[in-house]
Amino acid sequence: MKRTVNFNAGPATLPLPALERARDEFLDFAGSGMSVMEHSHRGKEYEAVHNEAIALVRELLGVPESYEVLLLQGGATALFALIPMNFLEKGKTARYVVTGAWGQKALGEAKLVAGMSGAETAAWNLGVGEGKDKSYTRVPAPSEVKVEAGDAYLHITSNETIHGVAFNVDPSRAFPATGAVPLVADMSSDFLWRPFDVTKFGMVYAGAQKNIGPSGVVVAVVSKELLERGRKDIPKIFQFRTHAENRSLYNTPPTFGVYMVRNVLSWLKGQGGLAGMEKINRKKAARLYGVIDGNAKFFRSPVERESRSVMNVVFRLPAPELEERFIAEAKNQGMIGLKGHRSVGGVRASIYNAVSYEWVEKLAAFMEAFARAK
Ligand SMILES: *Cc1c(COP(=O)(O)O)cnc(C)c1O
Repeated sequence: MKRTVNFNAGPATLPLPALERARDEFLDFAGSGMSVMEHSHRGKEYEAVHNEAIALVRELLGVPESYEVLLLQGGATALFALIPMNFLEKGKTARYVVTGAWGQKALGEAKLVAGMSGAETAAWNLGVGEGKDKSYTRVPAPSEVKVEAGDAYLHITSNETIHGVAFNVDPSRAFPATGAVPLVADMSSDFLWRPFDVTKFGMVYAGAQKNIGPSGVVVAVVSKELLERGRKDIPKIFQFRTHAENRSLYNTPPTFGVYMVRNVLSWLKGQGGLAGMEKINRKKAARLYGVIDGNAKFFRSPVERESRSVMNVVFRLPAPELEERFIAEAKNQGMIGLKGHRSVGGVRASIYNAVSYEWVEKLAAFMEAFARAK
């Protein structure tokens, strides 16, 4: 079987060994005579998988005891609503740094919740231009973002999947000093591609389908202190506390999705963990941005250099017709998923952990040949 060279933004390609493991264990999990997805979520077979997935997040990221790792459902989009529902109290302000489409969506949900609960939102919207045509090209400098003591939290999107805009240096330096105000980050498209200090955050969360598994699972890491503060007057199922108290087994979790996350993280550990992964990821991104900058008459990155994403490399060609031809010819050569998001157009190569350097090299060589031929 020939693997398609897949640059999809999400659901995205998964590491082949994680898929092969699933294939091998599919019909008969751990000698039980049934598939893992046929097991009770209260049984010892599934529970071992569940605990291992959580333990792997803890181990890879170095999560201390003062933080909980949660496995949730509803996608990162559900958390756009659940975060203000839990942490935005009456009379308080939640602040949002909007560096792309996902941050915009998160802010929209927070505004609705604030309206219900008599709270406020405030935002730094770094989009350039108006309304629908707003384009996002950078993250803020630390000095641009100010929080006030007593704010509910500050929300950022560490990597904007559609616009290719990211906070690139060590998060503890990149993110504004927030003091006692918890920093909350949507890390859906850049969770676990490099080490970072989770203790600088009140909460980070990520939909699995970009970098760590299939859709249907959201991984969140939340400080116990923040969990304590969460509201208790919302339905139990929506309280993060409930899931923490029940080790994410309050109701039936997406068992097969969690199993796949386990397989992916176990593979990741074998790649030298996050430090090993970061080296490869930086090399991949440098190769593609190198082609873009080295052919500046032909390719153009719309993102300011310091804010360029290592996960989603967004670029333009001189004309939309050329972009269409580029994407079509790449497809003929077995490379898919390069079309930019429908809201922004252009070209986007998503090069998450599971995308090998060889795949990136194939794309880079194709880009160089395409530019030369035009
Ligand atoms: C994909 C994505 C989301 C939405 O994820 P869903 O699982 O579809 O809800 C949110 N934030 C970011 C940064 C994303 O990349």
